[in-house]
This record gives sequence, structure tokens and C-alpha cells, in this order.
Amino acid sequence: MAKISINIASGSIEKSAVVVGIDLGTTNSLVAYVPKGQKQAQIIPVRGNGIVPSVVHYNEHEVPAVGAYAKAQLLLSPERTVYSIKRLLGKSYSDLTQENLDLGYRIVPDTLDNKVNVQIGSHVYNPIEISAEILKELKTQAELALNARVEQAVITVPAYFNESQRQATRDAGKLAGLEVLRIINEPTAASLAYGIQSQAIGNIVVYDLGGGTFDVSILHIEDGVFEVLATHGDTLLGGDDIDREIVNYWRKQAAPTEIGDFADLRHWAEKAKIALSENSRGKFTHALNSEKQLELDFDILAQLAEPILQKTWNSVKKALSDAGLTPDQIQEVVLVGGSTRFPRIAEKLTQEFPSSRINNQINPDEVVALGAAIEADVLDGNRSDVLLLDVTPLSLGIETAGGLMDVLIPRNSKIPVRVGREYSTSVDAQINLMVSVYQGERELVEENRKLGSFVLGGIPAMPAGMPKIEIQFALNADGMLKVQAKELRSGVSQSVEIQPSYGLTDAEVEAMLLSGFTHAQSDVTLRLLRESQNEAHQIIYTTERFINKNSNLLSAEELEGTKQRIEAVRGLIEQDDRQLLQTAIDKLNDFSRPFAERVMDIAVSMALKGNRIDELK
Ligand code: ADP
Ligand code: MG
Repeated sequence: MAKISINIASGSIEKSAVVVGIDLGTTNSLVAYVPKGQKQAQIIPVRGNGIVPSVVHYNEHEVPAVGAYAKAQLLLSPERTVYSIKRLLGKSYSDLTQENLDLGYRIVPDTLDNKVNVQIGSHVYNPIEISAEILKELKTQAELALNARVEQAVITVPAYFNESQRQATRDAGKLAGLEVLRIINEPTAASLAYGIQSQAIGNIVVYDLGGGTFDVSILHIEDGVFEVLATHGDTLLGGDDIDREIVNYWRKQAAPTEIGDFADLRHWAEKAKIALSENSRGKFTHALNSEKQLELDFDILAQLAEPILQKTWNSVKKALSDAGLTPDQIQEVVLVGGSTRFPRIAEKLTQEFPSSRINNQINPDEVVALGAAIEADVLDGNRSDVLLLDVTPLSLGIETAGGLMDVLIPRNSKIPVRVGREYSTSVDAQINLMVSVYQGERELVEENRKLGSFVLGGIPAMPAGMPKIEIQFALNADGMLKVQAKELRSGVSQSVEIQPSYGLTDAEVEAMLLSGFTHAQSDVTLRLLRESQNEAHQIIYTTERFINKNSNLLSAEELEGTKQRIEAVRGLIEQDDRQLLQTAIDKLNDFSRPFAERVMDIAVSMALKGNRIDELK
């Protein structure tokens, strides 16, 4: 029998590997790299184009196509063509608002976990698979263009993506055959692209209005080090919304029978918007059919866009105040995202930041991918001229007695970050401790978002307050949180990595932040009440234990008076009147202090004589 031998070595020439940066956009995606030995990043052409529309079309045989061809299919078979998939990534069905559902293709809940799926014909796809198709196209086309292997990538996400959305992005990368070296924030990537070119020292506002997301970040740059001071944004805001407003405007102008379907109108709305942004004096017209002519001029467009832009100005103000800066402390404003070509944006930013330079030299479509490529180059070990710092948008903490939020990592902390704090038990012989992890700005955990919980078991039985339990929070550069609880005397420990199965929408993050501000005063009052209630429980517990143990050393009046005052405190705990409760606690304390001291003196002198306290009974 003849042996078949395969000569692997001669099969193909080993190709070099390139590490790329990918801007996986809601509307458009790009891939870039830094050529060996160079500092500047370059966009990699894909089918002759830099920009790849983030659109996936599935034909009758379920074969996917990505990019310009798929985008053209939006008009022909909208129900088989998926766009804006990034809006659904890492979301649960219940996260979606009615507005999101108006996408032209069918969105269905997952039967198992209530995640969002897309149904095309009889086939159901999840957003990770669909995003992976876009990434696969970028990877394969980059390999062709560079004649090299592309297996590792840095992928960008909006600053407000939560852990679940970041994880979904990571999973999409994996599914596309890429090792995701790091997920970084889009505004951070953009600032990186600018920071490399200008060695500025100072504060920078990055304003990123894309097709489907809005982000504003306040960055501080010094000695080549980027620090994100604050971020704000909305994953449900972008150029798509302007298009939608135009569609609604046209629909209002015409009878429903005269006017085409949503996908068709959306297409012309975008064309009109782009044409008018480039020539604000022109007038857009398009004959939709023999009866209907679509029309738009710049003034109407500006009116339609105004509420959307207004939301972005509000976010800019919030981000600035979070960073503790005023507009005159901002040296540079960076424009990112295709929608920043709409002239009103640069005008408005020039008004708001009169002493800053408005940067739009780098193509606003490309700047994020270019920055991602630079970060990829850093992680590939090719340069040491850049350091990246990021921040966490919401505070992270645990629940302590009385349902209070104890913040371990405050919002806008630089990440990666590791924080440890010591706790103890509140009752004797407590052997289990429940650690519940929350995210949010409110004083009470019930008002915040629960991320997860676990039980630290096996704590040796000790009197209350004796065990030393260290809780450590480690938030890595990707926003993944590891929580560890360790009883230091015995060494027992337990940990959890938090990857919530469904995430927060940006609107929710913003709502949580706002709610923290608006409730700050009432939260403080409530916190004080809860603290008094905790103190009341604690003092009742210790005083009862004390009089039970030492009843033989106390007079009848002392015993009776103490019991009465304990009951007074107990009766007030649930009354929600902190003043009254605190007064009752003080009365109990004042009453018991003299004899408590006397008993302690006796105990001490007995101890000195070699007796133990409990032998006094
Ligand atoms: P994303 O980051 O969401 O993928 P991009 O940064 O690629 O989005 O921006 C896409 C958006 O930019 C789309 O809404 C598109 O209509 C809009 N856009 C592109 N060019 C222009 C222009 N000249 N004027 C106004 N909007 C534009
Ligand atoms: Mg973008």
C-alpha cells in the first residue's frame, strides 16, 4: 500500500502576523494597523474601501454577506438585512424600547435567557453571531490586503458599554477567529490617535456622534499619558435618529398610501442629511414615485436635529462638571464620528468652548480605528510611548447592615484598580457572610443595580466583630470585576467574577447617575436613619447580653430601668424618626454607662486575681 505523505513545510510559506485595531461601529466598521517599524496607523482597505457598512444580509440559503452589498440589500429585502446590530449586542429583550424594535427586521426574544435574537426566515441568529460576521469580513479582507495572518485585535466599544456588552463584543471577536487583546473605549482610542500626533498637555473633550451612539469624554493628557477624567453618553443616540426624524417629518407631510416603507424612506433621509450637511444652501429633492416628491432644506433639517443635539450638549455639560472643569480649562475639542460633519456641531462646540481648539483634522470616520491600531501596536510590544488609563462610569460596592451601599470603587475611578476593605460579623458565632455586589450612586442598595452575590462560608465561630473579613474588588482594564472575600484569621476565602447575563442600557446608566444627584439629600437623611437603626439593633443586642451575664452584679432598679429603655429603643426602630430613636439610644447609653463601668472594674480586678469573668456568676 502506498503511503501518502503530506509535506507541510512546502505547503505554504509561513505568513507574518499583524495585530489590528477594529472600530466595530453601529453603522460603519473599520480595521487599521501600524506597519512594522512605523509609528503612524493606517486604515486597511476592504474591497477597495476603508469603511465597511456594519450591515449583514442573509440570502435565501442563509449565506451571509457583509458591507456595501449588504447595505444595498436594505432596500430590496429589509427583512433579511440586519443593520445597527450593535444596539442589540449584550442586551436582553426587555431592555429594548419600542423605538429600537422599529428596525425593519424581526427581533425575537431568546426562549432560554430572554436575550435578543434576530429572526430571518425560519432561522434565528443572535447579535454575537451577526457581529462576528462583520468581524470575519474585516479579518479576511485585511488578511488579503496585507497578505498576512490577522489573529489578534483590539476592538473598540462606546465608553458606556457595560460589562455584558463588552463581553458580547469579546465573544463576537472570538467567534470570528480573533484573539481580542483588549476592548477599549472609542473616545479613548480617538484621543490616542490625536495624542500621538500632538504632544499636548491639557484637557480634551472628545465628542463622538456616530450613527447609533453618542459619547463624550473628558481626557487629561500629560507626558504622553492619557487619563479619562469623566465620560457620559447614550448608546441610543446618533445620526440614525436624525434620519428617523426626517422620515417622521416626511410621513407627516404625506398620506400613508403615498409614501414608501420605512427602510426606503430611511435611505433617502440619510442621503438628504449628508447632502445638506455638505451644502447647507441647497435643497434636497427626490421623486419617490409619480405622486410624491420628498423635499428637505437645511433649516428644517436643523430644526429636526436640534432636540437630538440638545441631548448631546446636556451630556457634555454633565461630563464637564463630573470632571470638575469649566470650558475655559479645555484646550482641545476632538470631533469623532460621521455625524460630526453636520456643520451645527462644530459651530456649537466653538461657541461652548471659545478658548479651545476644535480638532477635526483626522477623518472623523477613521480616528477610532486608527487609535485602536495604535493600542494594538502597544500591546504587541512595539512601543512604549503610550499609556492608557480608563475610568469606571458607575460606583461599585457591597451591601452592609441596614441595606446601605458601601462603595469600594467610586465612579470615575481609574481602571485597572484594586481596593480592599475590612469588615466583620454583626452577630456572635456567625459562620456565613453574604456578599452582595451593587453598581450605582444611591445610598441604599435597593435603589442600585445588583450585579451578583455569593456566600463566604466556613468562618470559624467567633464573637461578633472578631472575624476579620477582607473584601477585595479588582476591576481590570476591560471592566471585568473580580470580588474576593477572605476571612484573614482562618484564611477561608470565596470569590466571584461578575459578568451580568444582561446589561444596562446607556439610558439606564444615565438615569442611575441622575438619580444619584437628585436624591443626594434624601439619601443622606435615609442613610443616617439606617445607621441609627443599625446602632439600635447593635446596642439592644449587646446590652441584653450584658445584663443577662451580669444580672447578679446589678440592682433591681438598674435591671428594670435598663429593660424599660431597651424596650423604648426597640419600639422606635421601625418608626422612621431618627431624632427620637437617637434620643432613646442616648438615654439607654447614659443609663447603663455607670454600672457597665462598675461591672467592668469588677471584672478587671477579678481577672487580675486570676479569675475569669464568667466564673463570677
Ligand atoms: P458609528 O460609529 O455609529 O458606526 P459613524 O461614525 O460611521 O457611525 O457615523 C455614521 C453616521 O454618520 C451615519 O448616521 C451617517 O449618516 C452620518 N454621516 C456620514 N457623513 C455625514 C455627513 N456628511 N453629514 C452628516 N452626517 C453624516
Ligand atoms: Mg463610531
